[in-house]
Amino acid sequence: AEAELIRAQRFESLAMLAGGLSHDLRNLLQPLLLAGDSLQDYQDDPRLARLGKLVRDCGKRGLDMVHSMLSFASGARRAEQVRLGTLFSAFDLLMQGSVPHTMTMELAIDDPELSFDGNHTELQQCLLNLCLNAIQAMPDGGHLRVEAAQTALPADFFLPGEQPRSGRYLCISVVDDGPGMEQAVLDQIFEPFFTTKENGTGLGLLSCKRIVGSHGGVMRVDSQPGRGTRFDLYFPLEQRAAERDQDDRSYLEGAAE
Ligand code: ADP
Repeated sequence: AEAELIRAQRFESLAMLAGGLSHDLRNLLQPLLLAGDSLQDYQDDPRLARLGKLVRDCGKRGLDMVHSMLSFASGARRAEQVRLGTLFSAFDLLMQGSVPHTMTMELAIDDPELSFDGNHTELQQCLLNLCLNAIQAMPDGGHLRVEAAQTALPADFFLPGEQPRSGRYLCISVVDDGPGMEQAVLDQIFEPFFTTKENGTGLGLLSCKRIVGSHGGVMRVDSQPGRGTRFDLYFPLEQRAAERDQDDRSYLEGAAE
């Protein structure tokens, strides 16, 4: 499971990098293309016009490459029907070798027949990230519980005066009774490359957040030093496909900032 996770995290960061790079390159190439275009029409000096055409053609090729890079970055996720029972039995199997004997792991799935729009591979990766984090946080053993249930978004999710988002959500929680996190750690866990582990990548939680976001969901963490950590992931169950496409696009633009 760890090898699988590292492979997925590499791919994830590659897609993130490609998305960011494409955006920057596009901004760089567009003025170049324009400049080449106007030079190309330069009548007084045929040599300059030829150079202009060269600049234009190269810029155009670069822009085509950028577009295929962008579609690679967005192609990293494909929407499909995810059945909760299938997702969790695959995940359970994957975890089997990774849960040490000192630990107990419990899956509590309300409705295995529940299906929703999502990406199986990404959701699995997200769960895996959270559970391996919990396992690594509890070298002396402990209890890990993964829950999935339908709910509404809790009221304290919204700022005072903010219009609450309605509709049903699937809430997936990963709960451990490990050491928890100090506020100073908690403040940084979503920063790229932030890790407290000797061999950590510091990309796990960032990638979880990205995945939840690209599903139109929200995520929160509640952690108490000495008591444990709880991650709650809320996925909307009634989002329309058009909004999802919009989210994908804003993610790509967001990743490029
Ligand atoms: P990595 O696992 O490579 O360190 P992550 O982004 O997944 O990167 O996690 C960042 C940090 O958050 C970890 O190094 C750890 O300090 C902290 N953390 C994450 N999950 C837990 C947890 N369940 N219990 C305690 N600390 C955690």
